[in-house]
Amino acid sequence: MSTDTLRYFDYAATTPADPRVIAAMLGCLGADGAFGNPASNTHAAGRQARALVEQARAQVAGLIGAEADEIIWTSGATESNNLALKGFFDAEPARRHLVTSRLEHKAILDTACHLEHLGVAVTRLSPDAAGEISAAAVAAALRADTGIVSLMLVNNEIGTLTDVAEIARAVHAAGALLHVDAAQAVGKTGIDVKAMGIDLLSMSAHKFYGPKGIGALYVNRHIAPRIACQMHGGGHEQGLRSGTLATHQIVAMGTACELARAEMASDNQRIAQWRERLLDGVRALGVVTQNARGARRIPHTVSLTVALPGFSPSMLGDDLAISSTSACNSAAGKPSHVLTAIGLDADAAARTVRLSLGRFTTQDDVDFAVACFRRAIERCREAEESGQTLQVKQLSDEVGVSAQLSGTDVRAAHAIGFRSIVCNRPDGEAAGQTPFAQIAEVAGALGMTVRYLPVESGRVTDEAAAAFRALVAGLPKPVLAYCRTGTRAEMLWNSAGMPR
Ligand code: PLP
Repeated sequence: MSTDTLRYFDYAATTPADPRVIAAMLGCLGADGAFGNPASNTHAAGRQARALVEQARAQVAGLIGAEADEIIWTSGATESNNLALKGFFDAEPARRHLVTSRLEHKAILDTACHLEHLGVAVTRLSPDAAGEISAAAVAAALRADTGIVSLMLVNNEIGTLTDVAEIARAVHAAGALLHVDAAQAVGKTGIDVKAMGIDLLSMSAHKFYGPKGIGALYVNRHIAPRIACQMHGGGHEQGLRSGTLATHQIVAMGTACELARAEMASDNQRIAQWRERLLDGVRALGVVTQNARGARRIPHTVSLTVALPGFSPSMLGDDLAISSTSACNSAAGKPSHVLTAIGLDADAAARTVRLSLGRFTTQDDVDFAVACFRRAIERCREAEESGQTLQVKQLSDEVGVSAQLSGTDVRAAHAIGFRSIVCNRPDGEAAGQTPFAQIAEVAGALGMTVRYLPVESGRVTDEAAAAFRALVAGLPKPVLAYCRTGTRAEMLWNSAGMPR
């Protein structure tokens, strides 16, 4: 897919690497660069790589107020979160209680479930009315056997900030440790691990203009013995995480931290200005509200709900790169756990869009985004006014067919009781058709089952008909099958010899 026309508003999913980061990274790969193994201290190539790794460690530490020897390299925030939580409960059999929240990323929620299966008690806090996890809620959840509290500093879907410093006081008073998932915070908001009382902090370079596949865990040196290694091997990283260090990625992350230190204030000022322009533009459309708008937040990430029944994020068009939920949730086809935790129902969650801004966002991008919202909202209103409805040809109690669906049609199909959708159209068949992925996203968010059985030509083969029959048999009924005009789906049904 060409990205030439793409307006990128998905910086919370990932950022492009800064050209200065790429340049630093390239210097560590080839024979004329620092390609040596940082563990090879018997020759200059290894020592050169080691020096760069240690310089990068100091750069990462410098951004968050840590000491260099408190930075452990990992592959990203998912691994850092796993190391912090599993590492703690492995090392501390006496304290078997974990406190976390319903707003966390899957990398925490799934790790918490895993620990629960191993016998750890888990308390999952709900946000307050503003969408924040309050220090009072944390304090109330602490128990004599609470080992660790794990909370995110910035939420990836709604951009809210957690008052970590106040929470740390309550956590430490109870003798527990505080782990902070700062994947969405590093480079966007000031972090001082010592002043904020953070014991463990997860980071990921690709969220702040570094490459994917590199991250770090800050481990306060006083609590390091309380974390057990999760990756055994050569004893790298003070025995906490074995594996040959990826010099190029580490150097890139260090450079990204250095740039963040120098440019965070000016980046944030510009991004806040674009955020205001974006919010002013969409609010003027009359039906767009910002979620958790009363909470403290970073300027980069906004979550917007459109209060029009026919709206779906796919209506904003392919040229606007947004997220209908977090990147990790969008494949699951379920309403976002964050949006439901702050009080949205599945229907409102399906009409919600996350836009995240970054270093390279321009005023032109913002104006383009506002225009996309305006166009989508106009289309919804026109459809509402014309009373436009989905045309379904009912073939049996269990199966109906229709021509190409839009997101609005899917919602209409859901409203009239269809529980599954089958697409029989080869994707990209005709310009202007809503891609299957978007249909699947809308339908998935509504709790419908969606399958894709492409049929390549107008002639329906016996194999295609048999595959269609087997597919429909296993789906929740009634099923709505669609293709470009509806005839292919009907032919499949007829060829499959299904009852009318
Ligand atoms: N934690 C949060 C809050 C995130 O937003 C993400 C990424 O989306 C992660 C953890 C996982 O980070 P990584 O991609 O580095 O594994």
